Amino acid sequence: MTLIKPPTPAGISAAAELLRSGEIVAIPTETVYGLAANALDPAAIEKVFAAKGRPRDNPLIVHVSDLGMARGLELEIPELAEKLAENFWAEGSPFQGPLTMVLKRKTAPPQSGIIPTEVSCGLNTVAVRVPAHPAALAIIKACGFPLAAPSANISGSPSPTKAKHVYADLNGRIPLIIDGGDCDCGVESTVVMFDDGKIKILRPGAVTMEMLSEFGDVVIDDECSLRSPGTRHKHYSPKAEVIAVIAENKEVFSKYIGKTEFVIANPEAQTFFSKLREFDELGAERIFIRLPEPVGIGLALYNRIVRAAEFKIVKAENDKSK
Ligand code: AMP
Ligand code: MG
Repeated sequence: MTLIKPPTPAGISAAAELLRSGEIVAIPTETVYGLAANALDPAAIEKVFAAKGRPRDNPLIVHVSDLGMARGLELEIPELAEKLAENFWAEGSPFQGPLTMVLKRKTAPPQSGIIPTEVSCGLNTVAVRVPAHPAALAIIKACGFPLAAPSANISGSPSPTKAKHVYADLNGRIPLIIDGGDCDCGVESTVVMFDDGKIKILRPGAVTMEMLSEFGDVVIDDECSLRSPGTRHKHYSPKAEVIAVIAENKEVFSKYIGKTEFVIANPEAQTFFSKLREFDELGAERIFIRLPEPVGIGLALYNRIVRAAEFKIVKAENDKSK
């Protein structure tokens, strides 16, 4: 049975106690709900992969309370990463936002230092971020150790942005969900690594390319493959079939609406995943989603939409502008 508790001091300490005992707990973050485990405990990490049905080659992001905790993980932190941490990880900074940095281990597996190799699926790097959500931060601080936390959904399904989404996917598989209400961002963190003195985006997210470019040269990794297939895993998929549509304006969209056809004419980050789940509940067979311009937060949305659509992209027929 899965309990749901609010992020009160009692809820936070219940979560921390379970995490200390090697259990997994769903926690709110500003991006999406995370399924947290002690990042230093391989047995707890195994529970995360098992509960989600997550492919064993998809590494987890380690959540720390601040740069200081990251410094204790025996990872190389280049100057550029320090600069980004000071801006994106610091409370009150105008740039504060969900930025995950992939950092090199100081020692390679199997003597891989303090983060077990299970977290990073054997890679010689570890992805680290500082969540901004007060409940997530309070739980990390109460634990005193970092938390590995992928999205708290069954692998492949839309990411959870409300506690009820977590419950729908993981009821009976985890002991506790901390209900922090709706997630502010609604899309996952931006994942970057450092290559040749440049910031390389591995996954676009809530921190935009434009924001990052204030701090250095930014390149988008080919693996992000915005317009071409090539991702290894099914992602963000509702039960309904998703079709991404290129259309100049949202008016052309009305023609797609039917009894079992739903449309998202103006996708927005905060409600995007939630709408996919809502339409499933209404019995949707097909969901048509208009692709946004891939700029600003639109880049992250574009990335999620084409993956949810398994790269099925059509052009709206009566769109005379193209
Ligand atoms: P999720 O937690 O479901 O949002 O997924 C975590 C994302 O971070 C995935 O896209 C992973 O591939 C990425 N990630 C985690 N660790 C690493 C790493 N060491 N190197 C590159 N990407 C990583
Ligand atoms: Mg995920």
